[in-house]
Amino acid sequence: MKKTNNEKLKIIPLGGMNQVGMNITLFQYKDDIVVVDCGIAFPGEEMLGIDLVIPDASYLKMHLKKVRGFVITHGHEDHIGALPYILKDVNVPVYGSRLAIGLVENKLKEHGMMGSTTRKSVSAGQKVKLGQFNIEFIRTNHSIADAFALAITTPAGTIIHTGDFKIDYTPIHGRAIDLSRFAELGRQGVLALMADSTNAERKGYTMSESTVGKSFDMIFEEKKGRRLIVATFASNVDRVQQIVNAAKHYRRKVIVQGRSMVNVVGTASELGYLKMPKNMLTEIGDIGKYKDGQVVLVTTGSQGEPMAALSRMAAGTHRFISIQEGDVVILSSKPIPGNEKYVSKVINDLYRRGAEVIYEDTHVSGHAHQEELKLLHTLVKPQHFIPVHGEYRHLKKHAELAENLGLKKQNIFILDNGDALEIGQSGGAIVDKIACQPLLVDGLGVGDVGNVVLRDRQKLSQDGLIIVVVTIKKGTLEIVSGPDVVSRGFVYVRESSDVMDDAQKVVVKTLEKCQEKNIRGWAKIKNEVRQSLREHLWQTMKRNPMILPVIMEVD
Ligand SMILES: [Zn+2]
Ligand SMILES: [Zn+2]
Repeated sequence: MKKTNNEKLKIIPLGGMNQVGMNITLFQYKDDIVVVDCGIAFPGEEMLGIDLVIPDASYLKMHLKKVRGFVITHGHEDHIGALPYILKDVNVPVYGSRLAIGLVENKLKEHGMMGSTTRKSVSAGQKVKLGQFNIEFIRTNHSIADAFALAITTPAGTIIHTGDFKIDYTPIHGRAIDLSRFAELGRQGVLALMADSTNAERKGYTMSESTVGKSFDMIFEEKKGRRLIVATFASNVDRVQQIVNAAKHYRRKVIVQGRSMVNVVGTASELGYLKMPKNMLTEIGDIGKYKDGQVVLVTTGSQGEPMAALSRMAAGTHRFISIQEGDVVILSSKPIPGNEKYVSKVINDLYRRGAEVIYEDTHVSGHAHQEELKLLHTLVKPQHFIPVHGEYRHLKKHAELAENLGLKKQNIFILDNGDALEIGQSGGAIVDKIACQPLLVDGLGVGDVGNVVLRDRQKLSQDGLIIVVVTIKKGTLEIVSGPDVVSRGFVYVRESSDVMDDAQKVVVKTLEKCQEKNIRGWAKIKNEVRQSLREHLWQTMKRNPMILPVIMEVD
């Protein structure tokens, strides 16, 4: 009989659980920590003015000496986007595919961090030793080339982490997922499987990415002579390749628009992931040299992002392109939940300008549906299962799927961000909770916008702001000038002079009262002004703006 193995390791997701995006999970065995992915999330609607959300790396900073490296599954923003921020504090080597590392390097260049960081490209099948960890990179399929699953082996056993994946027998770049390697590892014994849950609610199989190529061909054929504009995710290099293929076949020049699209197309071409005939790529400034039927524009903005190239074309604010009668716009993506209304606005704007909009048939998902998940589970035959990547409903559905395949409930763990799962041959348990409040990035500021600032922004966005400026004589409360009442986002002043006049009177009265009662001290006076104005506005208008009194003293 085999000796029982009492070794255990810890799995701690710092992000990516019960949310879409910000994937980051750390694995700890004794004095070694390995981190899988380091992504961003896009801000929720309530996070006003926030550009992006990054994970809290306090735990890694605290255990800095133990951290052996970041291991990247693929080059999507929700898996690599936070690296420039986190590497500033946790500067350890980053391992990933050539494409993923190329995309990481784009970011590091922007942050001036190329010289201070270490990156290492790996290929499918390769193994890397990090402390007591052995990491093997396994080829999968996804909506970006060179996506890897990971086999993470420690003395406690092997964990398989799928990253984002689907099963595509006819992928655009590279080969089909290495199913036989999953099967081999399954035969050797897998302590736990962590697998992509994004599409755990969807039945059947995802279509192959190559089916999209046929749709493009049909559209290019049918819309001969008309200007074509295709919007998709910059990171979906395989999709861009298929647009290029159709362009080649139908003799169109390709023009790339949008900063991230230009970046990704550049990197992917350089590294050989995107193959384009020489002279096919054309500058936007030269578009006038070609007839409508001789060009195709590939652009960002398929999610209706207001600042992206497509939205600007639709709004008529793009520097070079305005949408005109006869244009054909193809949205080659699906709105991410929450983005539907932005996408809808862009579609309306495009139609209004006379374009024809095609928003079906040119997209397939990059994430496994139920039947693909079942195949993977069956090959890997894990002792334990941890659903990853998704909102709670997706994790729950994926857990049910594993249960239906015969795994016992007590061997399935739905984790929350910060949960420390200790796991070994004898089972698993959540033994600790790590604080990991995500950090908000606003421009150059990281983490300096907290809940208080967000609450202010929400209040301002809902109720507006009133500023009262008054100058008083030093030592007395005699008004020298003002009070001036200024408002933003509260009422339109020109049509509401009464409101502003009344507000002014209230302030004057309050200052008189303060004098009578001999109230001194700025804080107190300001408070009185704020209070009386708030009561007045609530009584007369049932409104509650933010009130900011400014009191100046002169001699
Ligand atoms: Zn992905
Ligand atoms: Zn992802």
